[in-house]
Amino acid sequence: MKRREQMTLLERIYVVEIAKGVRLTFGKLLGNLWLHVLHAFGVKSAVPAGVAIQYPSVRRPYPARYRGRHRLTLKQNGDIKCTSCFLCATACPARCIYIEACEHEDPSVEKFPKRYEIDTLLCIYCGYCVEACPVDAIRMDTGIHPEVYPADPRLFIEDKEILMNRSRLLEDYGPEKLYEMHLKRMQDIERVVL
Ligand code: SF4
Ligand code: SF4
Repeated sequence: MKRREQMTLLERIYVVEIAKGVRLTFGKLLGNLWLHVLHAFGVKSAVPAGVAIQYPSVRRPYPARYRGRHRLTLKQNGDIKCTSCFLCATACPARCIYIEACEHEDPSVEKFPKRYEIDTLLCIYCGYCVEACPVDAIRMDTGIHPEVYPADPRLFIEDKEILMNRSRLLEDYGPEKLYEMHLKRMQDIERVVL
């Protein structure tokens, strides 16, 4: 993008640039329409016609490495795996992980997080927390997107229970059902907000 002082007079009055933009958009639209007509008559083309996906009801399959919303993994007995080592919070560039460590009543468990929170409004979904964890206690393999809650910043803070429950839901229902639940919640929120 050019800075204003680098623009020519024609560029500064915008009208020509707007006309160029409209020509480009309609050029693409008509080109795509033409390709669809050709395909309808069985004519093959080197370039496939563009298809709109009705996101979020329909979506492309995500790659296995897609970084979705976090979850805290669990031990076989259902306890939290996290040992409160703070490595994820230290690695987090957005400083959005808050942990309060606590001694466990079981002497074989050194520590556990009394409080573990992620402020998803600050999170940039970089995955550093997952990389930093030495015991595989945090993952981003849920396949679901960051939630868009109503306009209250407190709702964006995901606590230990939410993060642990996501692991249980994933195990009980699988990723597709988890996405369906996520979608339904988003639609409910949309209905309330709109
Ligand atoms: S994904 Fe990145 S920004 Fe988000 S909590 Fe993990 S380390 Fe922090
Ligand atoms: S999630 Fe992993 S890295 Fe973070 S505190 Fe727990 S054990 Fe340490």
